Amino acid sequence: MELDITTFHFSSILSRVGFFIVFSVMIARSPQARYLWYWGGALATSTAGSIIALSIPQEAMPAPMLGALMFSAYTASMALSWNGLRLFYDKPGKWRHVLTLTGLAGASYIVLPALSVPMTTEMSALYLMAGLGAGLVVIEIYRARHERLWSQYVVAAAFLGYLMSFAIGIALLFTSEEAVTMTSAGQGPMIFDQVTSIMVYLGFIAMSSEWANQRLIEQAETDHLTGLTNRRGVARLLGAMHFSSTTSAVLMLDIDHFKEINDRYGHEEGDAVLIEFAERIRQTLKDHALVARWGGEEFLVVLTDSTPQTAWQRAEDIRRAVAGAPFHTAGGLLDVTVSIGVAITPTLVRQFDTTASAADAALYQAKHNGRNRVCLSGPSSADHVPLRSGQFNNP
Ligand code: GH3
Ligand code: MG
Ligand code: MG
Repeated sequence: MELDITTFHFSSILSRVGFFIVFSVMIARSPQARYLWYWGGALATSTAGSIIALSIPQEAMPAPMLGALMFSAYTASMALSWNGLRLFYDKPGKWRHVLTLTGLAGASYIVLPALSVPMTTEMSALYLMAGLGAGLVVIEIYRARHERLWSQYVVAAAFLGYLMSFAIGIALLFTSEEAVTMTSAGQGPMIFDQVTSIMVYLGFIAMSSEWANQRLIEQAETDHLTGLTNRRGVARLLGAMHFSSTTSAVLMLDIDHFKEINDRYGHEEGDAVLIEFAERIRQTLKDHALVARWGGEEFLVVLTDSTPQTAWQRAEDIRRAVAGAPFHTAGGLLDVTVSIGVAITPTLVRQFDTTASAADAALYQAKHNGRNRVCLSGPSSADHVPLRSGQFNNP
């Protein structure tokens, strides 16, 4: 099947125009997302490159100015994509690098022939500069692999493809006379460009929406006052936790007489106490536990690999961290205490609800026994073992 190169260029421009409309709407909607401007710029420059390529007669090298513009445009597109990614990953932009790379590509097309540099060397230099832009994109995404965005790998694959096509281009320059002109390279690169450019710009759009989606889930699962996971987030985090064969523990914590704090010092002071309370749990447990605000002045802690003794000890650590020193509020120092119920289970993921209920029952017992104490429940299983409340209670 013989395909017409001009038609290819034309359809490639058309698809870019379509993407440009989408990007314009996205930028208009969130102009503060600066990476979108850069990706829109990458799209605009690569479209400009294609428009110039369309105006160049086939089987010919473009005239100096036109060629310089075309290679500048293609290189700028790579460099702008890379800079947009940097901003997307919250890194500082490097627009000087973008300008340098773009300027170098254009200047090389004019200066190298004037210096009688062989055509193969000149084209290799141009491919190298565009390849450098593509390589920077791939490296940037590789460095950001902790972001766990699937769509970023679509973009990486496309730029890896570009990188390989430049390498093949350079190899062909030295092995085949025909490949020296851009347009004589045939349909292969054109088909390749159509697919990769769609992958790049759809990939960018998917990256912004996947990222926004992740942030929304994070926000929905985070308690805005304390910054802890909320009840909604616990289920997902439990699924991501690693449980060994040993038992796990659920701690249910409830601040004592919290209503009084609110009534006496006001709701804002109450909020300040909740914030410091959360901080003290975090400080006590470091990163070794899932800590969540279960609701109101109730908090939940999940400890993996815990025996009844170690779980009770952790709970006791928290109780002391709270009762041991007064809380700092705008109204002065304030004594705060907490009651904690502890339940142990060998199969937390399957038995979470029953274990949490058992911890809740132990918490009730701790309140009943006089507050500011830890109570341990028996293992929560089908054959429910009765509470051993008060067994480890402090006097
Ligand atoms: P107990 O020792 O039995 O737990 O007594 P308590 O007063 O702590 O328990 P109670 O459940 O009666 O009161 C909980 C209070 O927590 C009632 C509610 O107004 C308050 N509260 C819940 N959420 C918040 C919040 O986000 N900020 C503030 N300041 N108060 C809250
Ligand atoms: Mg309560
Ligand atoms: Mg309470």
